[in-house]
Amino acid sequence: MKAYLISIGDELLIGQTVNTNAAFIGSALSDINIDVIKSSVVADSLEEILNEFHIAFQMADVIIATGGLGPTHDDITRTAVIKFFDTELVMDEKVFEDLNEFFKSRGRELLEINKKQALIPKNSIPIRNTKGTSPGFWIEEKNKFFIVLPGVPIEMKEMMSNFVIPELKRKNKSQIITQRLILQTTGIPESVLYERLGNLEELLDGGKLAFLPNQYGVKIRITVQAENENECSNKLVEIEQRIRGKVGRYIYARGEELLEETIGKILTERNLTLAVAESCTGGFIASRITDISGSSNYFERGVVAYSNAAKVEILKVNEDTIQKFGAVSPEVAMQMAEGIRAISGADIGLSTTGIMGPTGATYNKPLGLVYIGYCDEKVCYAKKFLFGNDRIINKQRTSQAALEMLRRNLLRIPDED
Ligand code: ATP
Repeated sequence: MKAYLISIGDELLIGQTVNTNAAFIGSALSDINIDVIKSSVVADSLEEILNEFHIAFQMADVIIATGGLGPTHDDITRTAVIKFFDTELVMDEKVFEDLNEFFKSRGRELLEINKKQALIPKNSIPIRNTKGTSPGFWIEEKNKFFIVLPGVPIEMKEMMSNFVIPELKRKNKSQIITQRLILQTTGIPESVLYERLGNLEELLDGGKLAFLPNQYGVKIRITVQAENENECSNKLVEIEQRIRGKVGRYIYARGEELLEETIGKILTERNLTLAVAESCTGGFIASRITDISGSSNYFERGVVAYSNAAKVEILKVNEDTIQKFGAVSPEVAMQMAEGIRAISGADIGLSTTGIMGPTGATYNKPLGLVYIGYCDEKVCYAKKFLFGNDRIINKQRTSQAALEMLRRNLLRIPDED
């Protein structure tokens, strides 16, 4: 089945509200193998809404519209629906009872304006709203499903999960199953990843692949279709194996796992402890690590040593080294990692020093220059990175590179470069 989503509301068009409803509905539908072919945002205008209903009805089997149902909206969505289906509004007793209950439970009086909310299109069945006052409704016509839900995310979600998704699952007669798998990569740009994977048709054998890059890495999303779950899973496993054969060293997780979770698991498994000394990341690495529940088992401490004095005083970095090579240098990064490891007694010390921008560059030290230091019982070294000139993105990329350096050391994955 194909689905078309319509999000109604001026506030979405002017960027006052982020369209999280479409993201939630898109994801929920894709989980039950319904393809979302289009998602549009429409103004609170009867003409625009009707126009969109016509287009959606031609293109899709399932149309889901959200927003513009409340009593303060001049019932614009409801009016559009009855015009579109050439029907009328009728009072629904069950919804009226729900409304009465809702207002009674909150000790509020049911106003005339609220009573109107029990009116639903004659050709529809109501979708009851346990979190608010506007019911949704479900219309079946010409083998198509037309679903209207309130805009308030918490109400919409509850109605989707408890009514719409189970109903659509029952109605979807399609024999084709879709399954997706995400592989998380980091430390390899999208274009290099693409080249390393080689002939995608051979690799995917009918499946589909998407690269989803952000400042933390590139997600690889694989989609396969088959007639049953087993066939789908087997296809996914085969494709995953072929991908791992080519770029496995860069894949840190399957699914929506974060790198800080991955390293947390490895450190816990190995019974190792970690301490970080951060200059340019200002505590961001420590923050990411401690976002993970259970991190107290392996995270010993984090020190933000931003000034030269702090590097010398707390981490015992040699003052002469700073004078000779500068604070942003492999020598200082190494001494920071060594220092934090020594003062904390942790098994591993990790450090960052760099020029985050937009100011601070010198003739031989450009913006985005970062050194990450790593020290354990056996090795102590620093690695150079060159990021861009956006301060916040540089902090994010540096933190990811540091965690990845840690992961590769823990798993003994040698550097290629
Ligand atoms: P109600 O009956 O509660 O008034 P409604 O159907 O009239 O609901 P709107 O008035 O359009 O919904 O929106 C209610 C709230 O939900 C607003 O705060 C709005 O910003 C938010 N909202 C509406 N549509 C979306 C959307 N697509 N994504 C996220 N939030 C949304």
